Amino acid sequence: MHTFIRACPRCNRPYSYIEEGKVNGRTYLYAVHCYRDDLGREISSECCLGPKDHYEHVTRIHEKKD
Ligand SMILES: [Zn+2]
Repeated sequence: MHTFIRACPRCNRPYSYIEEGKVNGRTYLYAVHCYRDDLGREISSECCLGPKDHYEHVTRIHEKKD
């Protein structure tokens, strides 16, 4: 096992946990962001990280926007 940084490779924000979901027989990973908005409401959003077997590749996608 390797340790990974708990930051979403899609949006670069920290995520709360990783969730798995099956699509067409393949397991996909989703980074789930849980946070509270200004009114204190709990909000969660997901970013699809791609198929689980390609996850290590996906983690290397870090787009630089500067
Ligand atoms: Zn994200």
